[in-house]
Amino acid sequence: MGSSSKSLQTILGTPGVRGKRVTALSKDGLTDFIQTIIFSKQETKEPFYVLDLGAVTTLMDRWTRALPTVRPYYAVKCNPDPALLGTMAAMGSSFDCASRAEIESILALGVSPDRIIFANPCKAESHIKYAASVGVNLTTFDSSDEIEKIRKWHPKCALLIRIKAPDDGGARCPLGPKYGALPEEVAPLLQAVQAARLTVIGVSFHVGSGATNSRVYQRAIAAAKTAFNTATQLGMPRMRVLNIGGGFMPNTQFSEASSSVKAALQSYFGNDSGLTVIAEPGRFFAESAFTLATNIIGKRIRGELREYWINDGIYGSMNCLLYDHANITCKALACTSNRANPTCKGARTYSSTVFGPTCDALDTVLTGHQLPELQVNDWLVFPNMGAYTAASGSNFNGFHTSSILTYLAFSDSN
Ligand SMILES: *Cc1c(COP(=O)(O)O)cnc(C)c1O
Repeated sequence: MGSSSKSLQTILGTPGVRGKRVTALSKDGLTDFIQTIIFSKQETKEPFYVLDLGAVTTLMDRWTRALPTVRPYYAVKCNPDPALLGTMAAMGSSFDCASRAEIESILALGVSPDRIIFANPCKAESHIKYAASVGVNLTTFDSSDEIEKIRKWHPKCALLIRIKAPDDGGARCPLGPKYGALPEEVAPLLQAVQAARLTVIGVSFHVGSGATNSRVYQRAIAAAKTAFNTATQLGMPRMRVLNIGGGFMPNTQFSEASSSVKAALQSYFGNDSGLTVIAEPGRFFAESAFTLATNIIGKRIRGELREYWINDGIYGSMNCLLYDHANITCKALACTSNRANPTCKGARTYSSTVFGPTCDALDTVLTGHQLPELQVNDWLVFPNMGAYTAASGSNFNGFHTSSILTYLAFSDSN
């Protein structure tokens, strides 16, 4: 209780949250809160998010307990919601930014530039110049052209060499096909850095987003150790930073992944007391903190099949189905047709299809999903909608993802 109310006080004063209403929730109060919002804005019935800041603080506690020596740099691209960013900042997180605009949004929170890593291995020259002008002095690279750009525009920048994780095949979104030096490229790249009189202070990797096999961290940390040894063999100054990237899941897989990381750090870097270990979790902090409520705007019955249209879809928040290969689910909230029993406990269910609002058949959110009989103006509530959802939605067909409102809550997990 004590630690949670203390974090609530800290969060209420943080940029992105300050001045906004934050509703305290009891343990199972989310559905009631969603209904309160629905009844207070009956007219528009626009979709909305609820961001549970209490869930974010609980995840931070979990991270700190499992990986006390690994400093998180939250990956802004996963969900740049200002209240989430402000909360992460208030809890002491650092940030992984991939563009000028992401850096600007973090600096605007009053976060010092030394809490930012510009972790995009391929940056536009104008963005590099901007990083130099605001004092963001840590970045990643995996090519000699990138070294040349950094030499020209930001020679004071410290570098991490991004290596390809040996095994990201099990990830939902592998990153290896695009980023990371191959083993035989590491030595020539380190030599190119030396020739450019820049400084490599460490190694970075990303095992792929949505990693399903925790052992990938072990193999990647072993590969990082090899790169550390290569630097030593080349007579370079001792490297001192290991960036283990993202890929962490906010579920039971996290304890497995964190144990695997800890064991690998111990076996490959056990006696290196000068080592700083950082990570770039995105999904871990964002995914479960957001719940999306959508309104049923249309219905069609075909025999036993029930088909519903809702006011968000593949071109909006559910773009995660395509880009993030996500599995999503939803629950009925029949607060219009069944006010006495809005969650429809005990009701008969039907195999149902859920369509998004745009005029494209691709815009299909769920098929074969069991739902009770619902009516137009009832709601569907989607949990775990914080990672790679609103961040990458479009305005296609006049449905503006960016104008979906987010209501703030703080649940007490104790
Ligand atoms: C996307 C990305 C992340 C975040 O990955 P998650 O799987 O969401 O944790 C971290 N670092 C880099 C460089 C990324 O591109």
